[in-house]
Amino acid sequence: MSTVLTRRHDPHDPFAPLAVRSRAVVEPVDPLALGPLRKVYLIWLAGASCEGCTVSVTGATHPRLEQLLAGAIPALPRVELVHSLLSAECGPAWVENLLMAERGELDAPYILTWEGSVMDESLAGTGSFSGIGEDPATGRQITSSEWLDRLAPGAAAIVAIGTCATWGGIPAAAGNPTGACGLTDHLGDSYRSAAGVPVINIPGCAPLGDNYTETVAALLLHLNGLAPPPELDALGRPAWLFTDTVHSGCSRIRYYEQGVFSTEPGSPACLVELGCWGPVVQCNIAERGVIDGHGGCMTMGGICIGCTMPGFPDRFSPLFERRTFEGPELSSRARGGFLRRVRSARSRRPPVAARRRQAPAAAGSRFYR
Ligand code: SF4
Repeated sequence: MSTVLTRRHDPHDPFAPLAVRSRAVVEPVDPLALGPLRKVYLIWLAGASCEGCTVSVTGATHPRLEQLLAGAIPALPRVELVHSLLSAECGPAWVENLLMAERGELDAPYILTWEGSVMDESLAGTGSFSGIGEDPATGRQITSSEWLDRLAPGAAAIVAIGTCATWGGIPAAAGNPTGACGLTDHLGDSYRSAAGVPVINIPGCAPLGDNYTETVAALLLHLNGLAPPPELDALGRPAWLFTDTVHSGCSRIRYYEQGVFSTEPGSPACLVELGCWGPVVQCNIAERGVIDGHGGCMTMGGICIGCTMPGFPDRFSPLFERRTFEGPELSSRARGGFLRRVRSARSRRPPVAARRRQAPAAAGSRFYR
């Protein structure tokens, strides 16, 4: 037996479930199990995506993806990953996972994570913008957006990761030849999963890996019956992660308050005159860093370009231009009111030409097996 197969059959090896479907693993009896679920499938699909969200999540540290996959966190079921990029399986064997999920044949509930924007395949002519696998009976290529429609009703929850999946992002920027949009615009605001959860949006280009793994951990706790659903704000974002502005956690804010502004890259002073959108953008990167507390836009000398916000990039372009919301002519009170109005205007989802779809009916009883 090869090394790979040995690992595959060791549920305690943190690499065992990574990229390898391991339904053959007999779940160990856990006398300390706190909820009914031993395992949850995580089906990760991509539309118009650069795979940057996947890269981010593999670098998450609080918690680590490997801890979720190994079932190493008390009270959380083990996560079985079925990923369009990371899975070692490919071809029909991999597609079979999706078909089993659609038919309700998996031996555990599944969470669907969607990376990238959803493209309007009716604009693709005789081809397709994004295909994932083929129908085993006919050989017809199945588009990623068709998989979304087929798997959304039975999903225990759907997590849209990254700004492309949440609001449309760069593929949906002005011009938008593929009709790209975010997941909520595609499924409809009324979508609820089989467990009654709306689409959970984790924006960012790329998003913080920790924001994703922490939210999935909270979701797993809820699905396991041990906690209420994660608290979401009006845009479906985890409320505890996206309430505060970049500015409020930025290490350069003392320069902002003293009116000391960088005029060229490389200075430690406030970057607002170089185009920083931090005062109106909701994101926790300044506090949390990128990997294990390190890195982040302003920490590394870059401006905030508004990548977590609805309407990015159009509403935040041109990116490197002096912002008008600072200046000594404004009192602190007037500036605060002005910033709140700018933030509010940029926090609305941009209108979508056609809300393409009503919410698919949830599959209800297929959730807990
Ligand atoms: Fe605010 Fe940006 Fe200046 Fe940081 S660099 S203090 S986020 S304006």
